[in-house]
Amino acid sequence: MVRPALDEWFRRVFDDDAPSRLGTGWVSGTASVFLGAVAAGATLVLRFPGALSAPAFRELYPMAVVRGVLEAGLVVAFLLGVLSLLLRRRKVLGLTGCGLAILATAIGDGGASARGGPELGLGLDWFLLNLFLLALVFVPLERLWPLRAEQSVFRPAWTTDVVHFFASHVLVQALSFLILWPATRLAAAVPDAVVVPLVRGLPTWGQWLLAVIVADLAQYAVHRAFHVVPLLWRFHAIHHSSPALDWLAGSRLHLVDVLATRSLVLTALLSLGIEAPALTGYLAFVSLHAVLIHANLRWDFGALERVLVSPRFHHWHHSDAAEARDRNFAVHLPWIDAVFGTRHLPPGRWPDTYGVAGEPVPAGYLGQLAHPFRAAAD
Ligand SMILES: [Zn+2]
Ligand SMILES: [Zn+2]
Repeated sequence: MVRPALDEWFRRVFDDDAPSRLGTGWVSGTASVFLGAVAAGATLVLRFPGALSAPAFRELYPMAVVRGVLEAGLVVAFLLGVLSLLLRRRKVLGLTGCGLAILATAIGDGGASARGGPELGLGLDWFLLNLFLLALVFVPLERLWPLRAEQSVFRPAWTTDVVHFFASHVLVQALSFLILWPATRLAAAVPDAVVVPLVRGLPTWGQWLLAVIVADLAQYAVHRAFHVVPLLWRFHAIHHSSPALDWLAGSRLHLVDVLATRSLVLTALLSLGIEAPALTGYLAFVSLHAVLIHANLRWDFGALERVLVSPRFHHWHHSDAAEARDRNFAVHLPWIDAVFGTRHLPPGRWPDTYGVAGEPVPAGYLGQLAHPFRAAAD
């Protein structure tokens, strides 16, 4: 039972005394450890770019900026660690943060250029960049407008969700290939004489809007199938097994769920002839919006809630209450659920609890990967 032990260790180290109160050295210590760990990882990527970075991103980095940001990050991590050591009775956070900053400096980037290298690589850079930017945006937002103020960043089972986040980002190259390969072939089989010229005649913003609508219609169908077909539900139950929601919880997805949903959505978009700029815009939108709707944020979007999926709308999708069962399948456009009669949005209310009632889903990452196949064998 490595994971519960790890959770307990993190709880003891990070969460022992009134963590949200300023002046206890908790915020500086945690930020120091986080920044130190990200900087140490980035240093490793620069040291071994061929193995640890994805070629698609490798060519795009402005190296002078990357090095500047990295050096600034190391200095800030070290200073925050010192601040935590001064403020805090327990020194483990400050020492770890300072230690990581010193270790990263000692490793150094070797002056290597990140360009060149083999065509196959892990997306450690993609993981670090996303983790850093999303934490930078969502951790403060969840502190300023929390739905559940008592819920810590280190809530139960958060380590499992970090592993899901890590796996889906580090394997970015393999996953992109496995999504693109069927999508491009299926889309090529669709006749494009009438619709594609019409779509290509639209301006980029028009193609983007069409992409969001078509993607969410396709996503609605696939998502609903994942709920009602028992074989598919075994995979999707993993996503619903999180007992708490926050910006990290949406990462909890079985890889089969990720591959099936994304390749079918992409097939729909490519069949219509949506071009690269609109496609990139859609991908940027979906990556941010998907994180936002899981966040521990008390935002309901007011009058906009009927137009754009809010955190409240998707939190109801994760509710374990009978009233919300198999409701709110859309992830961008809530009116799709209204049209198909599956919208559940009781005025002013949020769900009390989340999860999969009565379904035992393993707590750890590997157990969750194996769960659908084990359940099938039973
Ligand atoms: Zn679902
Ligand atoms: Zn979700």
